[in-house]
Amino acid sequence: MTSSSDYILQQLMSFEKLHLSAPVLEALNQIGYTTPTPIQEQSIPSLLEGKDLFGCAQTGTGKTAAFALPIIEHLNTQEEYKGKRPIRCLVLAPTRELAIQINESFRDYSKNTKLRTVVVFGGVNQNKQVNQLSAGIDILIATPGRLLDLMNQGFISLAKITHFVLDEADRMLDMGFIHDIKRILPKLPKNKQNIFFSATISPTIMQLAGTILYDPVNVRVTPVSSTAEIVQQSVYFVEKEEKRAFLKELIKTEQIDHAIVFTRTKHGADRVAKELNKVGIKAESIHGDKSQNQRERALNGFKSRNINILVATDIASRGIDVEDLSHVINFEIPEVAETYVHRIGRTGRAGKDGKAITLCSKDEKVYLKSIEKLIDQTIPKVSL
Ligand code: AMP
Repeated sequence: MTSSSDYILQQLMSFEKLHLSAPVLEALNQIGYTTPTPIQEQSIPSLLEGKDLFGCAQTGTGKTAAFALPIIEHLNTQEEYKGKRPIRCLVLAPTRELAIQINESFRDYSKNTKLRTVVVFGGVNQNKQVNQLSAGIDILIATPGRLLDLMNQGFISLAKITHFVLDEADRMLDMGFIHDIKRILPKLPKNKQNIFFSATISPTIMQLAGTILYDPVNVRVTPVSSTAEIVQQSVYFVEKEEKRAFLKELIKTEQIDHAIVFTRTKHGADRVAKELNKVGIKAESIHGDKSQNQRERALNGFKSRNINILVATDIASRGIDVEDLSHVINFEIPEVAETYVHRIGRTGRAGKDGKAITLCSKDEKVYLKSIEKLIDQTIPKVSL
């Protein structure tokens, strides 16, 4: 068990702690992010200090915000340009889909600033992109081929870049973009912050990173497949309004007597615990609105098995380390895929069998997909 003080510290981890400014915090609040993901916690402080970074992380870990937030902070505090603004940040992405996603993320996170972001990619007519660029922009997200095309035609200058991101470098290499990248790199100023992300590491990746990064900080989110392999996972498709009734049935029929049930909200945790108690299942909720005393009491009760079901939000569950947990139940699916892996990692410890049961409503299927992509497995679906 983590000590109480660690537990309290972990409870307090929030975006405020990462020293982000009010416009950015406000945007995160509007989007509904409450807690940084591990890659964000590890990357944001060093990036805010201006260091180069080598990040090993897959999609689904929250890596886009990990680099976008500090970049937005920097650009937003740099002096405003009087005339047409030069492009100050370049993000290279291997595919059009990823480039579009990154662009949307930058726009979301910088919505309370005056920063302008544009995305360019191949396979479409360039006129609209050229028009958008002509207004003067701060952040450019691009796929390598189209970027080179537009540079060669004189529509883009990279001379004033202060921040450069190469995202999904391994995929870039797989897709044969190395020559394009090698043509782009010399056009960038020497003095800038460089960020390099790759889901996998190989000698070629290290070599490419070596040509781009200067004394980088290394961050890596734990490979996620290991726990996912030991734990027996399943998904039930249950609509939102039927989930509580379903959960009661599940706990009774499967005779589950020691499980954590994860909900997305504090209110949800309270409601689920209350309903379970109504039918004689001993449950307690644990979340950030409860006092330290209440949380410890619930936790001790759970450990001594006076309480069978602990209903928790993700933040509240962080310091919890319980032996012999037989089940983790995802009452709601987390939006960040990596959170799923952290949740289910609480069972199946030390080679013991554990079961992770997920209740998925129609709205949540998109999150389920990104989890399956992250763990590179299809989670068996159980029909009702
Ligand atoms: P990425 O790995 O950057 O593709 O992010 C995966 C998903 O997680 C995206 O849908 C993001 O909007 C979401 N996300 C990123 N960071 C957070 C956070 N701190 N809290 C909640 N959702 C997040």
